[in-house]
Parts: sequence; structure tokens; C-alpha cells
Amino acid sequence: MKHLEDNFGRKFPYIRMSITEVCNFKCGYCLPNGYQADKSDNRKFLNIDEIRRLAKGFSELGVQKIRLTGGEPTVRKDFYEIVKILKNETSIKKIVITTNGYHLDQKAKLLIESGLDGINISIDSLDRETFKNITKHDRLPEILKGIEILQSLNFDNIKINAVLLNGVNSSKKDFDSWAEYIKINKVNFRYIELMQTGDNLDYFNRYHISSKIFKSYLNENKWIYQTLGQDAGPSLNYINPEYKGKFGIIAPYSKDFCKSCNRLRITSKGDLRLCLFGNTGISIRHLLQKDDQTEELKDLILGQMKFKKESHYLELGETGLTKNLSKTGG
Ligand code: SAM
Ligand code: SF4
Repeated sequence: MKHLEDNFGRKFPYIRMSITEVCNFKCGYCLPNGYQADKSDNRKFLNIDEIRRLAKGFSELGVQKIRLTGGEPTVRKDFYEIVKILKNETSIKKIVITTNGYHLDQKAKLLIESGLDGINISIDSLDRETFKNITKHDRLPEILKGIEILQSLNFDNIKINAVLLNGVNSSKKDFDSWAEYIKINKVNFRYIELMQTGDNLDYFNRYHISSKIFKSYLNENKWIYQTLGQDAGPSLNYINPEYKGKFGIIAPYSKDFCKSCNRLRITSKGDLRLCLFGNTGISIRHLLQKDDQTEELKDLILGQMKFKKESHYLELGETGLTKNLSKTGG
């Protein structure tokens, strides 16, 4: 079987697929004014058959895991159907999602029933007011309730991500409240460093802070750095035997971040993106129209691998095509 590998020896067993740009939240760093359709691009979002063919092509190139993201993936009416089809009609082993957790209390059971293998939930703060200020939605209680339901149904592949924001959720008190939470909840909580995008320069300048502040907290509080295997992805993980959950840090500006890159991205309109940032991306949608195009699709994707760059060059302020992460799925 041909496998996806780039010129730097990195392999890609993992795809992030955005299935919509639409979102119902207004996170300050992403869509502060809410979702607005891009008037210069009237292509529709990938339909369920295109998504299935894409997954099939990638699975034949060695991809084992697909993360569905967005925008907010769960706003799609056919969301559960997409998960079921990917689970039942392709040989992708793991289907996981990243969600803002909207209505998670009502969705938890349906998510499990669809066959989902894992869920990343974005919760920027455990403080209800702060959560509301960042997302413009007072929905923290329903999200936490949703997590309780998932756990009560023995679903335990749960990760929580928060974007680290200077002066908003970056104090010792914030870190302590997450520590209390993961002491009794078996979830992996990770802070992601805020990334600059084409749209958020002012926000970035105001709120970006290095994750070193959280790293120091972990070191001071006896968290143990856990070294992981080669394909583990770019999160640095920390364990503590007295806690059920784990802490993690995703630091895109750190020197070696791109070395462990193991993922490619597909936008909701069918563009292959070799990196979350940068200008490398072509449409592969014309090869998703019929079931017998798989070989051509695979050749096109393989041919693109030589264009994957070594780094995102974010530290140089190069955000490329990425206006905000709702387009490429974060
Ligand atoms: N709507 C879903 C959600 O929020 O989880 C999925 C899409 S969202 C773009 C995926 C992740 O990217 C979220 O965890 C979000 O917090 C993160 N994100 C968005 N913009 C970001 C930025 N500028 N820097 C760092 N993380 C960002
Ligand atoms: Fe929506 Fe996710 Fe962007 Fe927030 S981070 S606005 S929830 S897409």
C-alpha cells in the first residue's frame, strides 16, 4: 500500500476534515462577529458522498484516523449520519470530533450511538462569566453536564482544549481550577497557545502569551512530563498519579512543533491543505464525484506531498491563506 510521507520523513496517519465553516459561537479569537458566509466563494460544503469517497481514498493511503471539525461540525443536519457512514462504510479505524460542546447534554447519547471514538471539547474557562465573555454564549453548564453524561455512559476518550489568553484564563487560579477538575475527571486537558490568523492580529497582540507560564506551573506542582511515541502529535503531556486526568500543552510557536506533524487537512469545500497555515492547498473535489475516481484521487494527493513545507513559519507572522481557524478546522 502506498503511504503518505513528505520530504522530511513525516508520515500522515491522521486527517482533519472540516465539514462546515458555519459556527454558532462567536469566540473572540476566531469568529468574533459570528459566522458570515464568504461571498467570494459560493461553493457548497462537501456532501456526505464526497466525504465518504475522501475517507475511502485516504484510508487506502494508510490514514487510520479522521477528526471532523469546522466551524462547528455538529451544526450539520447530517452530522450523525456522516459519523455512521465513515464508521461503517470505510476502513478508517477512528472517527473523532472537535466541538464547542453546544447542547452537549442533549447530544451525548446520540454521539456515542453514532459510533464516535473520541471527542475534543473546547472549553476556554471553567468560570461561567469568562466562558460567556469569550464565546458570547452562556453555555458552560450544559457542556459540563454533557461531559458527565458521556462519562456515565463509559465514554472515556474525552479531551478538553482551551486557548490560553493572557489575563483571561492564564492565572494560577485558572490553572488550579482545571487541576481540581481533572483530579476527579478522567479527561486530558490541554492549553493551546493562541495563534495569529489573517483576521485576528489585534486580538493576538492583546492576548497572546507563551505557554511557558503553564509549563512552569506544571513543573512547580510536580507534574511529570510524559514522553510519547513518534506518532503522538504535537501535544506535550503531563501526568500526576494523584489525578485521573492529564494535562497537556500545544505550543505551535515552539521550535520543534512542526517536527511531530502527523496530519493533513481538508477544508469544508474540498481543498487539501498541507498545513494549518501557509499557502499550500489545492482543490481535490473534482475527484470526489464518482466512486471509481479513487485511484486518481490517491495519485493527486500523493503528488502533493512533496509540497509540504518543513514548518508553518508562523513565528515570522506568515498566516498564509488562513483568515481564521473556522475555515481550516483548528
Ligand atoms: N468549533 C469547534 C470548536 O471550537 O471546538 C471546532 C473548530 S475550532 C476552529 C477548533 C479549535 O481551534 C478550538 O479548540 C478552538 O479553540 C481553536 N482555535 C480557534 N482559533 C484559534 C486560534 N486563533 N489560536 C488557537 N486556537 C484556536
Ligand atoms: Fe466557532 Fe470553534 Fe471558532 Fe469558537 S473556535 S468561533 S466555536 S469555530
